[in-house]
Amino acid sequence: MPPGGRMGPGFLTDDEKKNRPKVTKELLIRIFSYLKPYWKQLLLVITAILFSAVLTLLPSVLTGKIIDDGLIARSMKTLVKYIILSLCVTFAANLIGILESYLNTWIAQHITYDMRNSMYQHLQKMSQRFFTSNNQGDIITRMTSDISGVQQIITNTLTSIISNVITLAAALVMMFRANWLLALIGVVIVPAFAIPTRSAGKNRWSITKDSQECSDEINGILNETLSVSGQLLVKLFGKEQTEYERYESVNKRMIDLNIKESMAGRWFRMLLSTFTSVGPMLIYLVGGLIMMKYDPTLTVGEITVLVALLGRMYGPVNQLLNIQVDWIRSMAMFTRIFEYYDMPVEIENAPDAVCPETADGEVEFRNVSFRYEPERQILKNISFTLDKGKCIAIVGPSGSGKSTLINLIPRLYDVESGEVLFDGVDVRKLDLAFLRSNIGIVSQETYLFNGTIRDNLLYAKPDATDEELISACRQANIYEFIEKQDDGLDTIVGNRGLKLSGGEKQRISIARILLKDPALMIFDEATSALDSISEQKIQDAIEPLIESRTSILIAHRLSTILAADEILVVKDGEIVEKGRHKELVKQGGVYTELYETQFSKAVTGDDGISFEYTEGED
Ligand code: ATP
Repeated sequence: MPPGGRMGPGFLTDDEKKNRPKVTKELLIRIFSYLKPYWKQLLLVITAILFSAVLTLLPSVLTGKIIDDGLIARSMKTLVKYIILSLCVTFAANLIGILESYLNTWIAQHITYDMRNSMYQHLQKMSQRFFTSNNQGDIITRMTSDISGVQQIITNTLTSIISNVITLAAALVMMFRANWLLALIGVVIVPAFAIPTRSAGKNRWSITKDSQECSDEINGILNETLSVSGQLLVKLFGKEQTEYERYESVNKRMIDLNIKESMAGRWFRMLLSTFTSVGPMLIYLVGGLIMMKYDPTLTVGEITVLVALLGRMYGPVNQLLNIQVDWIRSMAMFTRIFEYYDMPVEIENAPDAVCPETADGEVEFRNVSFRYEPERQILKNISFTLDKGKCIAIVGPSGSGKSTLINLIPRLYDVESGEVLFDGVDVRKLDLAFLRSNIGIVSQETYLFNGTIRDNLLYAKPDATDEELISACRQANIYEFIEKQDDGLDTIVGNRGLKLSGGEKQRISIARILLKDPALMIFDEATSALDSISEQKIQDAIEPLIESRTSILIAHRLSTILAADEILVVKDGEIVEKGRHKELVKQGGVYTELYETQFSKAVTGDDGISFEYTEGED
């Protein structure tokens, strides 16, 4: 399969040759299992192919009658009869051809539909680990190009094999029935036909490969430089001209290759057409010799029929010779698709999962250890308890494992050892839907879908009324902004919410969580700097939230930390200090260091009184 998942022209790339899939019985059985539900339609297609192949060949046989019984016998009536018959047969063959292609497309589309649906469902069950370790482009390619490739395999490869084999067999039978000697002479030349096909193929192969690489490079440049963030980088570094030159030079290489490729095809076709005329000439020569010297009963019509039938064989032979490439490519594509299907679902509902009626959002970590990859321990022996209605702030240097820790609560990942309990039950024994519906996370990277503010809010509660939406937005401190927009709640947020500022996005996501109304609320504070007004607005939005429910804050700002009942200081995946701000600052440990280097100075204290914090001050 060429990079990018396209079905290229009929030659394998080096990569494809190297990674030829092993075609096993299991693989074939698995592929055919997708065809099984449609066996009736498939049978109909094969019948249609059979009829249309035979009918397409009939006019060649009728040509003999037209010549011998019509033209040479000078019988107008017979001539017209065979002409009409020949036309009718061609019409019927084409009619069946329409039915065949309809059925073909129908089957292919239905198989693709089944595969896409089941793949989408399967991918949705995959863990976060799968999405972080796989390239997003690869996942999309498999969902789109690879599965579309399956459709091509069915409409092209499979039917092409069936129809070419049937046409070849029928043509052979007809030729040998007409005149075995001339048939033999004509057919002997057919295998030799493979030689120019092969050698011309090799030449074209390397050009095709280069042009594929070129087109991948072009796609890469476009992807990089025409994306929102890519363009921003180009503009800010003033690289427009450099990027243009890079693009222009690959573009130029591409057209050179395309011209070369198209000319390679020309030579190839010229060679072929010269070669295809050798067979008929041989039949004319030997046929003429037999007719004139040995067997006067051999007619002009019979010779013409053989030539016509031979002409019909070249197409199928050529296609069958090239089908090997399609076949290998198809098998590779199925293997790639099956690879995804075979990836185990890491995080699943336990068969006896419990689903309590209500939730308090209490959390307990008991000696939890975790690693993303075997070679690196991320969390070590984490233990803490969060009671109903309380709030914990997690602080620590960047990369210490804070986000990882909270990811274990909604089971985005499962622990390596130890236990995470939600309302006293191990999360692995809880119903996943129950668990996740009771946890609300406002993450650092706020994700909004491209749509309106309303669409994004309704994602949390599809049946929310306008009053509920407005009330949530008010609480999240974002309603004032929405009111100012011409379209209000129907304002488009842009690609991934990029039309909004970081602070606005975060407040919308707070409103979204408010609508979800979870028992446990997790707030992963953005590390990126927000201006103090934005920050204050967010602060004002989350404070009432955490007051009324169980919550965890990953905090980077002192104002947030002060709102918590307990602070956990995480360093290198371990909880190194625990307590309240005032106690921790006095200890002179990791927290003090963090406080001195990172946390902001002017804040509102946990008792509601304004403090002016300066370095080292309590
Ligand atoms: P920050 O405050 O900068 O957000 P953090 O304390 O939340 O940092 P984590 O995101 O939990 O840190 O990351 C902890 C460590 O785990 C980091 O060293 C990071 O490189 C690693 N890590 C995070 N996600 C993955 C992943 N999906 N696969 C492998 N390693 C990861």
